[in-house]
Amino acid sequence: MASRDPHSIENEPHFRGGPAKPDPSERVAGRLKTNLETETRDGHSVFEEPAMFADSSPTLIEQDWSCEQCGYNLRGLMFGSPCPECGAIPLYRPAPRGARGYSAWLEKKLAADGSARGWMIATLAILLGGPFAVIAALMGAEPGTVANSSMLILAIVFGPAVEETMKIGVAAMIIETRPYLFRSESQIQTATIGAAGLFAAIENVLYLTIYFPNPPVFLILWRWTVCVALHIGCTTVATRGLLAVWRRSITELRRPQLGLGLPALTTAIVLHGSYNAAAYFIFEALGLP
Ligand SMILES: [Zn+2]
Repeated sequence: MASRDPHSIENEPHFRGGPAKPDPSERVAGRLKTNLETETRDGHSVFEEPAMFADSSPTLIEQDWSCEQCGYNLRGLMFGSPCPECGAIPLYRPAPRGARGYSAWLEKKLAADGSARGWMIATLAILLGGPFAVIAALMGAEPGTVANSSMLILAIVFGPAVEETMKIGVAAMIIETRPYLFRSESQIQTATIGAAGLFAAIENVLYLTIYFPNPPVFLILWRWTVCVALHIGCTTVATRGLLAVWRRSITELRRPQLGLGLPALTTAIVLHGSYNAAAYFIFEALGLP
């Protein structure tokens, strides 16, 4: 017997007579489930979780397809068999021919002309990436607010980690969400190295006017040569990782995996941190600012 109170447990769907009437809010969920095409149109769908394709019979990998673990090309092998190089069982496999999904979406996007737009995107990434990195680097690093020893940890560990990540951050975000926006490796290099140069320039201006007003000529020269070279050099190293992520996504038409770029980013952070540590102790020993 249905209660008159609409929120009563006795009004749960299975207690009511007649066919179930879905709650209006469920209409959205229903749409998600039935309109798979819309959902995979821009390549962002839960229906493309690892190896989740309707036909899961053993298939021959007929295109270039890197092992997720070691990068070995699994072309010519059966999906599901271990990688001959490292023994890992691949989780991802190429989409079946004609399947709607990420590959088809990316292929369509790449077929459209976009080289000029790629350069525009690269320019935008410089203009956004440089200042973003400065803002991130300044957060929580105001001089005089932390003790000397934590300042050192900040300069040797956290500073380089934040700066190296942020200098390639905008380009990484573009590659992860819209890899087709870049059409060549030089566009990506322009985006990240440009952002690094802009970052170094803004940092130098801040450093030589606010942190050390009236700096000695030596310090000005040092900042505009060694420090600029350091920022550009480290970003060049970190960018190699991004290029690997982008290259695999474009050539194998698969989702970008940013993790592939982590070893290069880590190398850049370590190089940068080592420089900061060396510079700190040398400047300290010489009594320089
Ligand atoms: Zn492998």
